[in-house]
Amino acid sequence: MREVNSLDADFKNLIASKPGGERVKNCFLCGTCTAGCPVSSLDSAYNPREIMSKILLGMKEEVLSSPEIWQCQQCHTCVAHCPQDVRFADIVRVLRQIMIEEGFADKELPEKIEKIDTDLKNMRIERIRKITLG
Ligand code: SF4
Ligand code: SF4
Repeated sequence: MREVNSLDADFKNLIASKPGGERVKNCFLCGTCTAGCPVSSLDSAYNPREIMSKILLGMKEEVLSSPEIWQCQQCHTCVAHCPQDVRFADIVRVLRQIMIEEGFADKELPEKIEKIDTDLKNMRIERIRKITLG
């Protein structure tokens, strides 16, 4: 079991050093990302503002241990609305990369999730075909 209580003041710097994470320190925790997020609207356990707050506080192990990070759909709604151009969807991409690099997540997880997304898109096509063809 990993220790999740220690703080790492350099966590935000690690994120900022990776492509897509450069603007992480611009966040002023306004919550606009959470308000417009389609995943948050269905699952309150997924909260972009809360994730940003934990990043800025240095709660590295807690963030990297969060399975919710994989719930992001990469729709980029948060990117379009963020007043600080933090690009939260890109921060999620960086977090996932660090999770795999540091052994917090299985390296095959992205492929498995991509398959789920493809299956859901195909299911939508099929079901719409069924109801429109009568
Ligand atoms: S990422 Fe942007 S929208 Fe989200 S809390 Fe930070 S400043 Fe606000
Ligand atoms: S990219 Fe992720 S965090 Fe941003 S609005 Fe879409 S699902 Fe939510």
